[in-house]
Amino acid sequence: MIIIKDLFTNLAILASLLLLYSQVTKGSPLHLSSSIKRKIVVGLAGGLMGNLLMQYAMHIGNTIIDLRHIPLVLLASAGGALPTAVAAILIIAGRLFIGVNLSAFISITFIVALTVFASFVSKIQISRRSKALVMLTFSNIYFMGMVVYLIQDTAFLFHLIPLYWVVSYLGGYVSFHTIDLIRESQMLFERYKDESATDGLTGLNNVRRFNELFNQLVNEAESKKQPLSLLYVDIDFFKEVNDTYGHKEGDAVLKQLSWILQKSVRSTDLVSRNGGEEFTVLLVDCPLKIASEIAENIRKRVEENIFMLNNGEKIKVTVSVGVASCQDDFENMSTLIEDADKALYQAKKSGRNKVCVA
Ligand code: GH3
Ligand code: MG
Ligand code: MG
Repeated sequence: MIIIKDLFTNLAILASLLLLYSQVTKGSPLHLSSSIKRKIVVGLAGGLMGNLLMQYAMHIGNTIIDLRHIPLVLLASAGGALPTAVAAILIIAGRLFIGVNLSAFISITFIVALTVFASFVSKIQISRRSKALVMLTFSNIYFMGMVVYLIQDTAFLFHLIPLYWVVSYLGGYVSFHTIDLIRESQMLFERYKDESATDGLTGLNNVRRFNELFNQLVNEAESKKQPLSLLYVDIDFFKEVNDTYGHKEGDAVLKQLSWILQKSVRSTDLVSRNGGEEFTVLLVDCPLKIASEIAENIRKRVEENIFMLNNGEKIKVTVSVGVASCQDDFENMSTLIEDADKALYQAKKSGRNKVCVA
């Protein structure tokens, strides 16, 4: 059956274009709240999709039958009136390009009616899928009216109409399923990527991310000839906090320390929890003198801070900080971590609650 072949070719084209579309727009699906520019761009893409579907349509005399209404339904249910109207204009232009005749004009009334109807439905407070179902049903009914008017062969219509209904709903289902599946796997991928880079307790970068960023920032500092500084921060006698108040209360202290660290540096600096009660701060484009001042500021802030425990008790803790820096001498970049660690050891050895510079 030629009808089945053509409609299924349309379905296959639709699915592969949607696959391509959701790859290209990775991580930023179209929403009612998307920017106007984005709505227009996605609308244009939908219009092209509709035109491509028309190229592979089934021709019966002057009448062209295809799934061009599905991009419109997808656009309307996700992004509302604007992207749908943009796509509709392209589809109408494309249809007129194929041939100007009665069938073309009637199909243009279909596109316009669907665009208007779908724009209204997109405003109703129902799920995206329900909107699509209502829009598809409208399309199928309108389609039925059109072909009954345009095609005289009753026996053929008895085949065409039910098949069209099935393929149209199937097309809608396949489209939504394809897009949602890809979006979901993209979202999961982003989430796992994030989680594998952050410390679960404090939300800071974890040591893996620190190593990655460290190499990246060293390269940047080298190429831009900028100084790079590193602070190693370690809580003094933290074991005692755990032993006295318990591990959970220790965690509360770690969280509050992470806030102090973040508040003490610029947003371009990188704060990480490198393990246990050890934190690092990478200071971008920052010479040793300023790095020492920042370290001293952190030390003082922690000393003055009152840490709130979950049980309501208030305690004080202090930190020791090791500072190291690289400027002009980029050979030494690789020893930055070692130097800061040694400086921290010095600070511990010479009495704690101190800043030592490498
Ligand atoms: P120092 O001044 O020499 O640094 O003494 P310290 O007690 O802080 O150092 P030490 O390395 O002996 O102990 C670190 C402690 O940090 C041991 C462990 O109980 C605690 N710790 C490590 N990771 C965590 C964590 O995730 N949560 C909590 N609550 N404690 C942790
Ligand atoms: Mg410690
Ligand atoms: Mg330690």
